[in-house]
Amino acid sequence: MTEINLTGREIIAKAIEFGASLAGIVNIDELKFSPSHTIYGKMPDYSGVGTVDVEGKEKQGQVQWDNRARSAVVIAVAHPEDEPDLDYWVQGLSGGTRGNAKLISVFSRLAGWVEKEKNIGAIKIPYYVEQGGVFVKDAAVLAGLGCIGRNNILVTPEYGPRVRLRVLFLAADLPSTGIKNYDPCGNCEQFCKKACPMGAMGRTVYTAEKMGQDLLPGRNGTYNRKQCNRQMEKDINNGEDVPVPGTDKTGSEVRFCRQCELACPVGLNDK
Ligand code: SF4
Ligand code: SF4
Repeated sequence: MTEINLTGREIIAKAIEFGASLAGIVNIDELKFSPSHTIYGKMPDYSGVGTVDVEGKEKQGQVQWDNRARSAVVIAVAHPEDEPDLDYWVQGLSGGTRGNAKLISVFSRLAGWVEKEKNIGAIKIPYYVEQGGVFVKDAAVLAGLGCIGRNNILVTPEYGPRVRLRVLFLAADLPSTGIKNYDPCGNCEQFCKKACPMGAMGRTVYTAEKMGQDLLPGRNGTYNRKQCNRQMEKDINNGEDVPVPGTDKTGSEVRFCRQCELACPVGLNDK
């Protein structure tokens, strides 16, 4: 693997300076062939929370990205347990959540800096994969931020799974920071699985034979996104109206389940 170069190191340092807790770089050619991007075309159609219907757009076996993109910066912002509202989704709030607003602010400053100081184009990415977005957890693994845990979310050594992620494309062919040799799940009692109110990690849903690859949702094919989605729908239905910050309106505030995140012992010395 090519080593991260000076430009990559400078971009990572700037992202941290602008407010990211962690940052890394992933090359687009590696990202294209990451497990979620290659499995995407083989997964059964799904339309749960976090997806969007795109009229007239057929799934073509691979996600379609802006063709100027040659690499991407991945950032994580820590989301400690004592700041639960960072992730409350408020209808009508710019960015949806306070955490998202923070991620957007880091990238807004970083995009300005790379364009001005490095003469590198910064390309914003749509949120939804169906509209040209990326699987951010895969990008984070390739950028060296952590690994995919048994709870199917990114687990970082520094903050465990308690992070929020975002990706920005760059029009420069930078090498990936590289995968970390890191796996806290191997000898773990699987606190995440025990904590899930929906039993979403309880049985095998995907097999290597059927999917044509060994890396599966929840690592071994036991993460059931439909079960998790049922919980998210419940959470949406339990939303309550609150004043929307910065406006004179009210909107529904949704507190999505984080049980599998909060039960994980990794990184509990969150800063
Ligand atoms: S609780 Fe254990 S198995 Fe689950 S993500 Fe954390 S380290 Fe991995
Ligand atoms: S978010 Fe909640 S429902 Fe979904 S897998 Fe984690 S614990 Fe289970």
